[in-house]
Amino acid sequence: MGEQVKDPVCGMDMDADSAVATSEHMGKTFYFCAQGCKEKFDQNPMKYMSTEEEEKGDSCHM
Ligand SMILES: [Zn+2]
Repeated sequence: MGEQVKDPVCGMDMDADSAVATSEHMGKTFYFCAQGCKEKFDQNPMKYMSTEEEEKGDSCHM
């Protein structure tokens, strides 16, 4: 039912309602599948904002 969103760190597609963490940057809301993904994003948002699907992100589940 919710909006489909993409975790910019690991590239995982998910429902916005099921996102574990969110972060706002440059007026845009980003959704993350895990707290670790959010932390990586917060440390270096530009890295994840500029690359869409060119690079596969780091594994976030371990
Ligand atoms: Zn993730």
